Amino acid sequence: MKKIIVCGAGIGGMVSAILLSAKGHEVSIYEKNDEPGGKMGEIRRDGYRFDTGPSLITMPFVFREFFDEIKREMTDYFELTEIDSSCRYFWSDGTVFNSFTDKAKSEQELKKVFGDDTSDSYFRYLEYAKIFYNLSLEDFIGSDINIRNYLSKEGIKNLFRLISGRSVNDLSNKFFKEKKLKQMMDRFATFSGSTPFLAPQFFSVIPYIENEYGAWYVKGGIYKIAEGLRRLCGEFNVEIHYGCELKDISQNNKKITSLKFRSNDGKTLETDKFDTVVSNFTNSSGIMDKDYFKNDDWANSAFIIKAGMKKKFSELSHHNIFFADDYEKEYIDIFEKKIPSDDMTIYISISSKTDLNDAPAGCENWFIMVNAPYLNPGTDWTEKYSRDYCNRIIDRLNRFDIVFGGNIHDHIEFCDIFTPEDFKNKYNCENGSIYGLSSNTLYTILKRPKNKSDKFDNLYFTGGNTHPGGGVPLCFQSGRIISTLI
Ligand SMILES: Cc1cc2nc3c(=O)[nH]c(=O)nc-3n(C[C@H](O)[C@H](O)[C@H](O)COP(=O)(O)OP(=O)(O)OC[C@H]3O[C@@H](n4cnc5c(N)ncnc54)[C@H](O)[C@@H]3O)c2cc1C
Repeated sequence: MKKIIVCGAGIGGMVSAILLSAKGHEVSIYEKNDEPGGKMGEIRRDGYRFDTGPSLITMPFVFREFFDEIKREMTDYFELTEIDSSCRYFWSDGTVFNSFTDKAKSEQELKKVFGDDTSDSYFRYLEYAKIFYNLSLEDFIGSDINIRNYLSKEGIKNLFRLISGRSVNDLSNKFFKEKKLKQMMDRFATFSGSTPFLAPQFFSVIPYIENEYGAWYVKGGIYKIAEGLRRLCGEFNVEIHYGCELKDISQNNKKITSLKFRSNDGKTLETDKFDTVVSNFTNSSGIMDKDYFKNDDWANSAFIIKAGMKKKFSELSHHNIFFADDYEKEYIDIFEKKIPSDDMTIYISISSKTDLNDAPAGCENWFIMVNAPYLNPGTDWTEKYSRDYCNRIIDRLNRFDIVFGGNIHDHIEFCDIFTPEDFKNKYNCENGSIYGLSSNTLYTILKRPKNKSDKFDNLYFTGGNTHPGGGVPLCFQSGRIISTLI
């Protein structure tokens, strides 16, 4: 039995702690903030409830496998419910497309909106993406990234297929003539914090996964997952120490020998009572190689507005995307020029469409998200700049007048703004980036921190900044991977 300290009570941190404790280790967690869940948070205001991060769940089998492993019933902790339409897409010329994971519905909608021949190319695209999924399932998503997985003849062939030079956008160009369809499929690359113009075609697995395994919500809100994990921590005797930020470490002979935390009341807590450390973040200079922070290809950040809306909008679904007019410019702005785009693609998640309790009667809880560049000297997210940018987003939505039928500003009860700067301050995200290093190129993918640290023999990484990547199911997977490695 080992004594293990997990730093950070995000999803990866809590899943790792529970699995390690279930295997007989003595585990405790130290978390900077006063609540668990990290980016999966929740706020309530004036009768509205908002999830602060994830809004859509895929790969439900990953959660079931976790619960099987710890011999508990998932439904005793949270309940996944499948959503019929995974997203409603809007373009400013009035085109609307409902994405379904049901094949027959999807086929019908594709033919209706984009023409008869598009459904065939859409499903061929997904079949092609399935190859990557099958190639990656065991050796990439299911285990730590390790060259030994690829040492056979078949393994080398697979590796070449996974890392071929074609980008997500190249793949869309190969399969689709319809620009809007390209725009739709390309956007999935941003779920990994990357641009479709650079991210390898492997990332076409994201729409494949959503299509194959469905789009899911959690009854009572996505935050129920974090609450369920917190409860499990209690049941598995994992104590969570809140308000404790890792500030420094001591080391000897490639091992971390002590951890220094600063508590909310300014005191320093130091402990050397551990064998192994698991970190749910990669922001601390003590635990990372200095070179890591010299990178300049971080995943994007996000600009978020949580808006209480005093009206119900019948044209909107639970998940909605309003596309930019100039498709390439938005990516150039965010990933090359590193400036917030004026012609932005806007995502609106309205959980009160599925769960009426999330907003007062006759109202809706809008979680509005726009991709933003990671922090850089080009943009200062002052209160005034952030407020102006919020207004520009609402003005841009006003252009979709068929949907909103009037000025949206008139229906807003309040707007809570969360900027890339807030990501840095609240969760210590490197440069405000949501997933640490981007997956824009093979080079950056290989530079992403591995589950087992190269720097210290008794340090492991879990969560979205490490392998296998960002997103709630993959954070669960990283917990499972390191619990096996340890
Ligand atoms: C806006 C947004 C939308 C998203 N949408 C989706 C979605 O729809 N579907 C999906 O699957 N995924 C989505 N994601 C991704 C998903 O939320 C994340 O991948 C996942 O929640 C990250 O979990 P994690 O384990 O990496 O931990 P994190 O959430 O990064 O938590 C890390 C924890 O460590 C703590 N910490 C940091 N530094 C220190 C320190 N020095 N000392 C102590 N504690 C520290 C932080 O406070 C935090 O609690 C979204 C993310 C964001 C931000």
